[in-house]
Amino acid sequence: ANPIRIGVVGYGNLGRGVENAVAKNPDMVVAGIYTRRDPGQLQPLFAGTPVFSVADLHQHADRVDVLVLCGGSKDDLPVQSPELAAKFCMVDSFDTHARIPEHFAAVDAAAQAGKTTALISAGWDPGMFSINRVMGEALLPDGATYTFWGKGLSQGHSDAIRRIPGVAGGVQYTIPVEAAVDAVRSGVRPALTTRQKHERHCYVVLAEGADAQAVHKTIVQMPHYFDEYDTTVNFITQQELKDNHSAMPHGGFVIRSGNTSAQNKQVIEYRLQLESNPEFTSSVLVAYARAVHRMHQWGMTGAKTVFDVAPGWLSAKSPEQLRKDAL
Ligand code: NAP
Repeated sequence: ANPIRIGVVGYGNLGRGVENAVAKNPDMVVAGIYTRRDPGQLQPLFAGTPVFSVADLHQHADRVDVLVLCGGSKDDLPVQSPELAAKFCMVDSFDTHARIPEHFAAVDAAAQAGKTTALISAGWDPGMFSINRVMGEALLPDGATYTFWGKGLSQGHSDAIRRIPGVAGGVQYTIPVEAAVDAVRSGVRPALTTRQKHERHCYVVLAEGADAQAVHKTIVQMPHYFDEYDTTVNFITQQELKDNHSAMPHGGFVIRSGNTSAQNKQVIEYRLQLESNPEFTSSVLVAYARAVHRMHQWGMTGAKTVFDVAPGWLSAKSPEQLRKDAL
């Protein structure tokens, strides 16, 4: 069979991750990277990968099977996903949870009109964690679901710190509170406040002449981001930031505990421990691109989510092989 031709739209952390992920999947090739910047200035990870302008995409409909959209959820995907779903099969990682219904509606309208297959919000959260939340509830209806994140670097919270006057650089780690995780694992279904579930640890480089106390206060009191958490702020040098905080680890757990009878508690746990959040997210996107390609061949068009995809469709193996090896 011909390899599935992947178009990478946007070349940031996820874009590079897709290039790496496709290299691990022999049934796929990267047909091209499509960027809004000058394609001549981009250096792909693999020398053979062609780089184009995103404007060229409209002439490339016969060169790609599935686009993997790697733009940001805040400003890029709300525009790019509906626009490209009109003409191309695609996968995105849209992760603004509160806006998923409207994003789905916009992409669905475009995909229905264009008879394409467009899967939104793949990745790990939303994505693999969402599947595990749904499975937990379906299997243990009398129960409670808990999601813990971390230890991991939160991009949104790091950005919020960096916007504070007097801050020259910084990162934020989200850390699950061990006592809370242990209580949940025991199956007692504790009621936990936001503060009891996660801590936030900040590593901040001060700008010259900045007032450390004022910066500290601005961080720990920031509404939504930090005020509901126990937050620690550590001041470090630019060199320490570079040496010790350049990686993008993340992960977490989805735990469902419930009772199947008055006597018996059951606990389900799904855990991710990721050295690179974007590389893992991209690996998930690429597996979903395979499923999207199949679903389109089977005539399943319109917008989809991870809930609409059977696990076997993600695999490069045939249904026969999966029944033999994995069932
Ligand atoms: P990123 O590195 O900031 O890249 C986003 C876009 O910015 C790229 O597609 C690229 O588009 C442009 N860009 C990248 N580097 C640039 C540079 N040096 N100068 C100018 N423009 C640049 O973002 P990311 O880390 O790949 O994450 C993308 C999104 O994935 C996030 O917004 C997040 O919502 C989502 N995400 C989802 C999950 C999940 O589990 N569902 C997990 C992680 C991330 P052009 O090439 O067109 O310029």
